[in-house]
Amino acid sequence: MARPNQARIDLAALRHNLGLARQLAPRSKAMAVVKANAYGHGALTVARELDPLVDALAVACLEEAQALRDAGINAPILLLEGVFEAAELEVAARQEIWITIDNELQLQWLESASPAQPLRCWLKLDTGMHRLGVPPDRAGKIYQRLRACRNAHPDIVLSTHFACADELRNDLTRAQLALFDDACRDLPGARSAANSAGVLAWPGSHYDWVRPGYMLYGNSPLDSDHPNTRALEPVMTLASAVISLRDVPTGETVGYGASWTAARPSRIATACIGYGDGYPRLAPNGTPVLVNGRRAGLAGRVSMDMITIDVTDLPGVSIGDEVILWGNGLPVGEIARHAGTIGYELTTRMPARTPRVVTVS
Ligand SMILES: *Cc1c(COP(=O)(O)O)cnc(C)c1O
Repeated sequence: MARPNQARIDLAALRHNLGLARQLAPRSKAMAVVKANAYGHGALTVARELDPLVDALAVACLEEAQALRDAGINAPILLLEGVFEAAELEVAARQEIWITIDNELQLQWLESASPAQPLRCWLKLDTGMHRLGVPPDRAGKIYQRLRACRNAHPDIVLSTHFACADELRNDLTRAQLALFDDACRDLPGARSAANSAGVLAWPGSHYDWVRPGYMLYGNSPLDSDHPNTRALEPVMTLASAVISLRDVPTGETVGYGASWTAARPSRIATACIGYGDGYPRLAPNGTPVLVNGRRAGLAGRVSMDMITIDVTDLPGVSIGDEVILWGNGLPVGEIARHAGTIGYELTTRMPARTPRVVTVS
């Protein structure tokens, strides 16, 4: 039998989650964020499914957009960081790739370029994230320059990005919205602010375009329970199988560093998935896994190609039994909390070594 690891990608769940985003923001256009290989899910698979269903897609850079165009994706694609050099503008203009204008140098590049046709521009305002975007008090001036630029399409979108929208009790989101409203007050054109957390928890942030990423993959970015997250369906299920079983007497240890000690006579199952397959090495003893659909905990350190699981309380486990690392019934965010990270990182770092297998539930 082949190595049984799979990152199963459920396209019905993907469509369902997009439907939820649309339902929560019914008056907004939807831009699906598929950067970084669609957060590890497979950019082409995800973009093909979403292409006819969304108003636009978003990626980080021209290379990512180009790969989608080359595969026949038709939706407009926004570059969330804009271009990295002036030469990229001509390539973008020819293929309905939209650009972010984040700073005045990018604006100068656009002013001095000779693209085949004017580019659609999203002018980004820095309302508090302090990573990308022009200062709100310069937005009016830069907007006028963009309007006057023959290489910019006259429909300019004003956008911003939240720093803390996942934290439901953090006041920074309201402050960012107030600053955004104030800076845009006299500027015509569509607006956009909401990431997944904005779509789910901040209806005042929806404006004309929403930009969900993480929620489309079925996971909640929010720091606490919220009714709008309950209908999310995980798109990725990471699956492996038991390849070995043993009894370990009281006092014996398991794994590298002997970091787990049997406190009782224990049954240890070894599954053939490790940090080389996208499972986080920092997941500690006790991190939950599903063996035949039932919860058990890691016992011992995560190896490159294997993990060890305490199945003492799950009688009847055999070689070949299914092990689910995250997905339905075991949110990736829960594993991430154990490993000291976020679910975004776990799915995005899924290596090519783990085959993506498309399923439609
Ligand atoms: C990545 C990104 C998003 C999507 O964020 P999620 O939290 O995944 O929904 C939206 N807007 C911008 C500018 C981004 O960089």
